[in-house]
Amino acid sequence: MAVMKFGGTSVGTASAMLQAIAIVAEQRKSGVPVVVLSACSGITNKLIQIADAAGAGRLEEALARVDEVRRHHVGLVGELISDEALRGGLVEKIEAYVTHLEMLTKGIEIVGELTERSKDMFCSFGELLSTTVFAAAMNEQGHRCQWVDVRQVMITDDRYGFARPIEEVCEAKVAELLRPVLDAGVIVVTQGYIGATQAGRTTTLGRGGSDLSAALLGSWLHEDSIEIWTDVDGVMTCDPRLVPDARSIRIMTFSEAAELAYLGAKVLHPDTIAPAVKKNIPVYVLNTWHPDSKGTLITDDPDLLSGMSYEGLVKSIAVKKGQAIVNVRSNRMLGRHGFMNELFGVFERFGVSVEMISTSEVSVSLTVDDSAVVDEQLLQALSALGDVEIEHKVATVSVVGDNLRMSRGVAGRIFSALCNVNLRMISQGASEINVGVVVDEHDVPAAVLALHCEFFDEHSCGLRIFEKPAGS
Ligand code: ASP
Ligand code: MG
Repeated sequence: MAVMKFGGTSVGTASAMLQAIAIVAEQRKSGVPVVVLSACSGITNKLIQIADAAGAGRLEEALARVDEVRRHHVGLVGELISDEALRGGLVEKIEAYVTHLEMLTKGIEIVGELTERSKDMFCSFGELLSTTVFAAAMNEQGHRCQWVDVRQVMITDDRYGFARPIEEVCEAKVAELLRPVLDAGVIVVTQGYIGATQAGRTTTLGRGGSDLSAALLGSWLHEDSIEIWTDVDGVMTCDPRLVPDARSIRIMTFSEAAELAYLGAKVLHPDTIAPAVKKNIPVYVLNTWHPDSKGTLITDDPDLLSGMSYEGLVKSIAVKKGQAIVNVRSNRMLGRHGFMNELFGVFERFGVSVEMISTSEVSVSLTVDDSAVVDEQLLQALSALGDVEIEHKVATVSVVGDNLRMSRGVAGRIFSALCNVNLRMISQGASEINVGVVVDEHDVPAAVLALHCEFFDEHSCGLRIFEKPAGS
């Protein structure tokens, strides 16, 4: 059967929840799914604001936001549950969570210190609340389901804010707690994103972690597929806001999907891919608002892939904005060893991750998150190594496709397509399935449009592998 994960926008409002419930009910006709939910859209952000405000002693502001969280969920109950008694019981459950959240908020304000560990506590309420409302609404609609606290199953290490599961323990818990429910024909509704340590402390897997939760649960349960239900038509050839003619991609390989995720496509959490690849479980990215459109299938199954073969070079174009280029120039590099080590040591000390790199004999260019290079101390440490120049507000634009691996002339086509755009940096990924350029942020629309024209012509857009997104 399937693990079905619904993202924040798919459970953010009463009508979205009803739509998601209808999709689950349809799936139930052919088996018993596990349903994994995100928090309602915007709620995790709000919980982080509450935590930050409490930690900074702004109690009034924090409590006002807690009340917004309460009102959002109580509002959903009002819209979704008509039975008086059911509604009363459900509102009580929500109030209990919110009271707990309020106590936590006051506690943190009193102590005056917010730790990663307590931040994870704050963040866990979003998924606990969304699943509580969803499961009740589902039962009221006549679809039997069981709400499960995933913290009984998703047992993690104690890296708060970025916890990872202890797989043997989780697999045993899944067999003990989830399998019997499913075998009894009852749908499981549970939380993405959160978990708990063996000592029972709440953890989170990191922002956007619900996809990962779904893939992990799918792999432990040996499910047939993992469905990621979202608000777009799967993975697209590029952002449709930049190119109105963008197509939805019917099928792609795991490596293409992972590469795209790392390079900025927002549809999937990059780590999602790993557990699915390990067990070779196909991942579908589907549109909650157009459940009949086909979305994207991510798989390495050669039969499925050859059924929709694609000779073109590029399958998708990804954009990552908010980057900066750091140029370091130093004669000390010439014929000397250890320079790179020192340079990367600086980034390591400041906890900054480096994305794209290109080097020559006397200079290195690399891209990092733009917000990282405002740190005076980091800049000073870099200046000790050579002449440093920073270019803010740049974006990486990358073309991705498995076929890039074997083909010649890709760079030539990229350069001629981009002949009117100022390219600040160029890099071919070591995976050989992407080529990236760095441009000024304001050149992104022109660059993406030109690349899309170059690599997706009328012929390729007519192929079965590309689909016009639903509703367009
Ligand atoms: N609710 C969490 C977040 O907003 C996890 C998720 O949606 O995947 O990051
Ligand atoms: Mg997400």
